Amino acid sequence: MRTMIRSTLSWHLAALICLACLAPVAAIEQVTVKQAGLTRILKGKILVEAEDGGVLLLTQDGRLWPLPKEEILSRSSDAKLFQPLTKAEFNKQLLAGLPQGFKIHQTKHYSIAYNTSLGYAQWVGALYERLYSAFYVYWPSKGAELKEPEFPLAAIVFDTRASYEQYARTELGASTATIMGYYSLPTNMVTMYDLTGQEESQARISRILSQPNAERNVATIVHEATHQLAFNSGLQQRFTDTPFWVSEGLAVYFETPDLDNAKGWKKIGAVNRYNLINFKKYLRNREPGALSKLLSDDKRFRDPATQADAYAEAWALNYYLINTHGETYAKYLKVLSAQTPLVMQEPAARQEQFLKLFGKSLEELENDFLKYMRSVE
Ligand SMILES: [Zn+2]
Repeated sequence: MRTMIRSTLSWHLAALICLACLAPVAAIEQVTVKQAGLTRILKGKILVEAEDGGVLLLTQDGRLWPLPKEEILSRSSDAKLFQPLTKAEFNKQLLAGLPQGFKIHQTKHYSIAYNTSLGYAQWVGALYERLYSAFYVYWPSKGAELKEPEFPLAAIVFDTRASYEQYARTELGASTATIMGYYSLPTNMVTMYDLTGQEESQARISRILSQPNAERNVATIVHEATHQLAFNSGLQQRFTDTPFWVSEGLAVYFETPDLDNAKGWKKIGAVNRYNLINFKKYLRNREPGALSKLLSDDKRFRDPATQADAYAEAWALNYYLINTHGETYAKYLKVLSAQTPLVMQEPAARQEQFLKLFGKSLEELENDFLKYMRSVE
């Protein structure tokens, strides 16, 4: 996931009121905004209201709009109940926002918008449905309560890397070149491109799975869909202060491909070889106290020099916690998802919140974690 919270989000956080926490029924709010010279009308539900006039608006397509006061021209509300778009309305809007030539491949839970071959869209759809079923069996078995997604789930598949980059650049900026697919917190959608080039027939899917980079390609496709599911099932809530090691480690925990399987992915929680190797390499030079840094802030994920180690350690910590403290971990996720969006905790408070729930000191946890991971082959 690449979070795309804009700088305009740095509001006076203490002054935020979480409306979603107070009002179970919300009217539809019509907000006229002016962004980058463009005026538009947004209709939705206000989730958070800041005393300075900024709002976090959820529109009927599931998109989140952090709107600072300077961008809001006017507001009005009516007594209509907030209703998500139907699948048909959603698909129509989705296609209208894409270049010419896109179609929808509809699965039970996903709208796959594609301008590549139907076969590739079908492969992505089947992979995502398999993940969806596994996800909804897995978390309840750990004691987590999930809800059905409130909004249609969408993935956009471009035919070529070039057309994907052109589209993604508005969201990803300069990092587009290094990102092969992403889940966007504001739009709630996964975007990717056809990894095969445009061959026809089922043979092309087999070809994806036999490429040398297949493992990482399939992992990315599943990884991004895991973020989307986590944020749409109630396991996590968008724009809340969720540590990166939780969001990223959890997605990596789910992504592990199974290339012997025709769909490329089979089950949750297999040892992630790629990250295990990285983690074992990292252990040779790991500094004492590294766990504290991981628990308290996200800097290690943002610095290219430490990013691979941070992802590997986040995967390892999730692997250890889910396998040894699964129910407590599910409770921890619940605490995180119940936080008010846009209110960020101090680094020390994050760590304290975590340790308190698990009932361990930092030292105890670090020892248990490393001992457990050294035994993983
Ligand atoms: Zn991610």
